[in-house]
Amino acid sequence: MARLAAIVGDRASAAPGVRADHGRSEAYHAARSPDVVVFPETTAEVQAIVNLCRELDLPLVPFGAGTSLEGNAAALHGGVCLDMGRMNQVLEIHAEDMDVRVQPGITRKQLNAQLRDTGLFFPIDPGADASIGGMTSTRASGTMAVRYGTMKDNVLALEVVLADGRAIRTARRAKKSAAGYDLTRLFVGAEGTLGVITEITLKLHPQPEAISSAVCAFPDLKAAVDTAIGVIQSGVPVARIELLDAVMMRGMNLHSRLGLPEVPHLFFEFHGSSAYVAEQAETAQAIAADNGGQGFQWAVTPEERTRLWHARDNTLYAGLALRPGAKAMITDVCVPISRLADCLVDTAADLVECGLVAPVVGHVGDGNFHLLVLIDPQDPEELARAKAFNERLVRRAIALDGTCTGEHGIGMGKMDFLALELGEAVDAMRLLKGALDPHGILNPGKIFKPHPPTQGSAP
Ligand SMILES: Cc1cc2nc3c(=O)[nH]c(=O)nc-3n(C[C@H](O)[C@H](O)[C@H](O)COP(=O)(O)OP(=O)(O)OC[C@H]3O[C@@H](n4cnc5c(N)ncnc54)[C@H](O)[C@@H]3O)c2cc1C
Repeated sequence: MARLAAIVGDRASAAPGVRADHGRSEAYHAARSPDVVVFPETTAEVQAIVNLCRELDLPLVPFGAGTSLEGNAAALHGGVCLDMGRMNQVLEIHAEDMDVRVQPGITRKQLNAQLRDTGLFFPIDPGADASIGGMTSTRASGTMAVRYGTMKDNVLALEVVLADGRAIRTARRAKKSAAGYDLTRLFVGAEGTLGVITEITLKLHPQPEAISSAVCAFPDLKAAVDTAIGVIQSGVPVARIELLDAVMMRGMNLHSRLGLPEVPHLFFEFHGSSAYVAEQAETAQAIAADNGGQGFQWAVTPEERTRLWHARDNTLYAGLALRPGAKAMITDVCVPISRLADCLVDTAADLVECGLVAPVVGHVGDGNFHLLVLIDPQDPEELARAKAFNERLVRRAIALDGTCTGEHGIGMGKMDFLALELGEAVDAMRLLKGALDPHGILNPGKIFKPHPPTQGSAP
């Protein structure tokens, strides 16, 4: 503590409440608190803290807003938590180039509030008001990825403090570059295991001239998914296309008083000029009707749209409303869109068979969906049943050439599945980790276990 105080003054705390706040999350994983939490304000302070942790062989876990869902920021081995929340400035806006340079602790809502008068916005929306550093580090996406891509597509450059204390810049602001290894993308999704991100240059997008949203009900899950596939395949540049199954609709009616029929739904959003938005929506409506969709309803005013998407953003709490006192084992998989209906229908049958309640919400335009498996974490039998279900889900997605996580990352929750998906590629990841963090101080115990040889091979 004395050595930390010499770097950051009174911005280091070992108070039990502060430590606990940085050890828990919305996930079902047990809380794991750090021994001390530090609040740096500059890259130089981050460098000094990294150097101290290396010298004392202390684990160092970067922390954004703490909204990740696979225990990504849990301090499995205690040590120092680096809360980036005070590094939350917009450093430079280049409106003419449509990019912005920010510090990692700024949240996506704070960023968009500061961009409001520029005519530009940052579209990646994981629902929670996550930090840009955390979103970069989990390679987050969310509802708008179908139109605007994920963090991997929207990060232009990074400043990163390496485990040896050096601060490097991974790229400049050019929209494209073929200069050497793509270090930017190496750190995007590295979950704080390879370096501490201290600056991020992001692409921005023009605020759409017109926005409209719609909801549509379907007789079953397959009809809804076939509509989503049809809309994507017909080239409609839909901005959001979200699937909510019948169980989730019940939770949303309970939590957000939506008053919609408790059958599978798609929520749509269209961006563009007024005429183009209308054209996109007509195409989507026709495809929905071909698949038996009914009650295509518009939400054109900002108030109606906000109500709809607020309900969508609160699906975690809507799911929990179905079983008060339960925790949600939140899991996400992603498959090629042509395999999505198979994956969802088989998963729904599996849920019936194993007797679990798990509302479904999906960014179906990307082939990505989440399940909130509602469990009593104190009931070991139910927890074991939920874990077995999760494993079958992941194996099903991988068998369909998909992935064990479309956006939440590996953290500690999906470590056992990485080798199943990528085989010996995990050994290449281990080599990179060993080269960049030879003492293993950065977010230890995440993504893969350090030593054992990789089992399994890539399908
Ligand atoms: C209700 C709800 C809905 C969600 N929906 C979605 C969704 O639709 N799509 C989606 O992608 N995610 C979703 N999430 C998950 C979550 O919002 C994302 O994982 C988000 O990217 C985490 O950001 P954070 O700032 O909270 O990071 P944290 O949870 O604080 O950290 C996440 C990881 O990033 C690392 N990290 C943080 N800052 C840095 C840094 N500066 N340098 C290096 N490493 C760093 C941490 O060590 C950790 O490994 C949802 C979460 C909730 C609670």
